[in-house]
Amino acid sequence: MLTWKEIINFCVKGNPKPEQRVEKTEAEWREILEPEAFRVMRKKGTEAPHTGALCSAHEAGKYNCAGCNTPLFDSTIKFESGTGWPSFTQPINENAIQYEKDNAFGMVRVEVMCNTCDAHLGHVFPDGPQPSGLRYCINSASMRLQEAGSQI
Ligand SMILES: [Zn+2]
Repeated sequence: MLTWKEIINFCVKGNPKPEQRVEKTEAEWREILEPEAFRVMRKKGTEAPHTGALCSAHEAGKYNCAGCNTPLFDSTIKFESGTGWPSFTQPINENAIQYEKDNAFGMVRVEVMCNTCDAHLGHVFPDGPQPSGLRYCINSASMRLQEAGSQI
């Protein structure tokens, strides 16, 4: 299980290697992503709270990257944070996510990105529920829910 200390280590010393890499030009991403997903994922935007389609999703399944379809989170680690964004306590695999220190807006936060295609997903905070104490706060637009038993 990942802890805040390990995440800070990833920020400082480098992220774990992904299973594979998906790289596209900005024009290619613009072609395949919905406009809101493009704004969030490739321009580091944030969707308005309580607007995301996956915010109140409770179906069993995996939350895949909307850009490259890599599984990022799953429904068993989703929790209701009350923030208005889908929230998780752990990634599905340790190397699914990359972490970077984000100093935007005068705050020091840890940005989380898809480790396969570098898409912006959201941020992670050290105020989640035990045992990990982590709260991954993720934009709905960055993910696609693959319901258990279905194929995308
Ligand atoms: Zn991705």
